[in-house]
Amino acid sequence: MRTAVFPGSFDPFTVGHYDVLESALQLFDKVIVAVGYNSSKKGFFNPDTRVEIIRQAVADLPNVEVCTYNGLTIDLCRNLGVNHIIRGLRTTTDFELESVIAQANKKMAPDISTTFIPACQEYSFISSTVVRDILIHKGNAAQFLPKGVDIEKFLAEREK
Ligand code: ADP
Repeated sequence: MRTAVFPGSFDPFTVGHYDVLESALQLFDKVIVAVGYNSSKKGFFNPDTRVEIIRQAVADLPNVEVCTYNGLTIDLCRNLGVNHIIRGLRTTTDFELESVIAQANKKMAPDISTTFIPACQEYSFISSTVVRDILIHKGNAAQFLPKGVDIEKFLAEREK
């Protein structure tokens, strides 16, 4: 069984992430979406909410698991016994940043490889940062969020 980890902040998970995940499922039997967080950095949504959002988003996709992690992605891979990392690429800037990380990971963990999946043209401008800005200013971000995500519920919980 070929399994990959798709790590990211996913704050929140967008249609761009969903598209990469769908492509990854063509290549791997199972994909574990891993929400990375840094205890000293407060996100927009907390890691558990990000997981809940992803669970709603992937409800119609088979063979997807969702988890959180703190620390190095290669350590997460080792703990899970997984040898593949998925990352999405939107721009040449993404490529430059991501290739450095992939090379460092390869040096530290030669048995773990990174697979890059290009963004589809329609979604290549979508980022969690843009979606967060829209949400903060009470705009309608529905078209940038995967179907099935009840973002109003999570926003209401956040403001409690
Ligand atoms: P990180 O903070 O780790 O970069 P993100 O949640 O911003 O986490 O992104 C996770 C992964 O998804 C990254 O590889 C990023 O390049 C990719 N990604 C983000 N948005 C898109 C998009 N619109 N299309 C394709 N890939 C994307």
